[in-house]
Amino acid sequence: MPHSRQDIALIASTGGWRPTLQHDQHLHVFTSLTQLPADMNPAAFLLADSHDASLLDTLRSLRGHARFASHLVFLCPRDEQQAMLALLTDGVWQAADEMARQISLWQQRQALLTLQHADPYLQRLLSYLWTREQGSLQPLRDWRRAGVYGYPLAECLTGHEDTAQLLIQQALQQGLLVPDTLHDRLRACPSCASAHLNYIDLCPSCHHHDIRQESAIHCFNCGHVAPQGHFRQQGTLTCPNCSSRLRHIGSDYDRPMENYQCLACSELFIEPAIRARCTACEHACEPAQLNTVKVHDYVLSERGKLLCRHGDQLRELQVFRLLGGLVSPELFRFNLSWVDQLCVRYPQQPYSLVALRLGNVPQLVAQHGYQATMQQLERLQQLLQEHIRSTDLATLLTDDLYLILLPNTPVAGVASLQQKIQHVLAQGMSDGLAVELLMHSYSTQPVQHQAQDTGLLLDALCNAVLP
Ligand SMILES: [Zn+2]
Ligand SMILES: [Zn+2]
Ligand SMILES: [Zn+2]
Repeated sequence: MPHSRQDIALIASTGGWRPTLQHDQHLHVFTSLTQLPADMNPAAFLLADSHDASLLDTLRSLRGHARFASHLVFLCPRDEQQAMLALLTDGVWQAADEMARQISLWQQRQALLTLQHADPYLQRLLSYLWTREQGSLQPLRDWRRAGVYGYPLAECLTGHEDTAQLLIQQALQQGLLVPDTLHDRLRACPSCASAHLNYIDLCPSCHHHDIRQESAIHCFNCGHVAPQGHFRQQGTLTCPNCSSRLRHIGSDYDRPMENYQCLACSELFIEPAIRARCTACEHACEPAQLNTVKVHDYVLSERGKLLCRHGDQLRELQVFRLLGGLVSPELFRFNLSWVDQLCVRYPQQPYSLVALRLGNVPQLVAQHGYQATMQQLERLQQLLQEHIRSTDLATLLTDDLYLILLPNTPVAGVASLQQKIQHVLAQGMSDGLAVELLMHSYSTQPVQHQAQDTGLLLDALCNAVLP
C-alpha cells in the first residue's frame, strides 16, 4: 500500500535523539508545541523530553487540543514507562517501517471519519477511538482520587476530571461506547461516591465500637452467662451469681457461642455488626447499602463506529425529524400529565402513549447504503404522517427513541396503528430491508382511570423498547 506523505512533528526540549525515517516521512523539529505553525497538520507527533513532568504537560496540551486530540503521539525510546504516559500516547517510536504502517493506517481511518459532532468533547473522544486499530479508554488506579480510578485520556480530552466522567456517561447512555474488560469492582459511599471506606465492628446492641473478643462461660447450675474473667477466683472457676464451683466443662458449665463483649454496655454477642463509614464525608451505612462500581475499559460500540463512519447522515434518517412538529421532552411531559388528569375526571376521554425505537438504522446504512435506507424510512414516515393527527404530540428522547401521545385514543386505536406500521415494515422486508422497529404502548382503562405517576409511566415505556 503506497504511503501518503507523512509529516512528523518532533517536540524536543533537549537536542540529541532523532528517529530513523522512511523516504516519504518528513521530520519537523520544534522545542515546544507552541512553536508549531498554525497551518501545519502533522500525521504524528514524537515527543522527546527527559523530564516526565514537562512531557506530561505537552501530552495534556495535545490531547486537549481542538485539532490534535486524536493524533498519534509517540515517545522517543526510553527505559521505563509511567502508566500515565502509556495511556496518553501510542507507545514508543519503533522501527521506521512499523511506524510508517501505523501512521498510514491512522491516516486512512482519519480520512474515513465523517463525524462532525456538535459536542466538541464527544467529537474528540469518538475520533480518538475510531482512528486507532484497537482504541480503548482505560482506567488508571490512583489512591489519591476519591473514586480511586480515573480515565486520564478522557480527562485530557475535556480538561477536567468531572467533565470526563460526564462525557463517559453521556457516550454510554447514547450507546456510543460499550464496556470491555472489567478491571475492578469497588464499593463506594452512597452519599459522596468516595471509595475510601472504613469497615468497623460494632456492638449489635448499642452500636459502640469499643468491643473485644472474650471467652464467656455459661453456668449450668443457675444459667448465668458472663465473661470468663468474672468466674475466676483464686485459681478456680466459681459462678459469681450462685457461687457454684465449676469443675468440669460439659457437666458444670460450657462455653457459649458468644465470644465478643461490648465494653460500653457489657453485652455478649457472637458476631459484631459491621458498618461502613466513609472517610471523606463520614456517612455511615450497612455494607449492603454501598454502591457497587464496576471499573471497565470502554471501546466504541457498533453504533459509535457507524456514527464515526457516516456522521450526520445518520441523524437525517430520523423519521420524525422529517415530519416536523416534534415538541420538547419537557412540553411533552407537561401535556401528558394534563391529559392524564383530564382522563381521571372524564374517563370517556381515554388516551394512549406509544414508545417507538428504530433499532438498526446504522446497520441498514452499512448493509444497504444510505439511499435505500432513506427510501424505506420515508415510507414509514408517510404512513405515520397519515395516521398521526395534528392533535397528537411526538417527542424525541434520544437519537432514535420517540414518544407519541395520542389523546382521545383508546387501546383499539393504538392496536390498529401498530398493525398498519407492521404492514409497512413487512413490505420493506420483502425488499431485503428489514427495519427493526420496537414498539410499546400504554392505554388508559376504559371505565375508571386512576391518576398516574407520568414520569414512571414514561420510564417503563422507554425501558420496554431500549436494548
Ligand atoms: Zn454495647
Ligand atoms: Zn451459677
Ligand atoms: Zn462519603
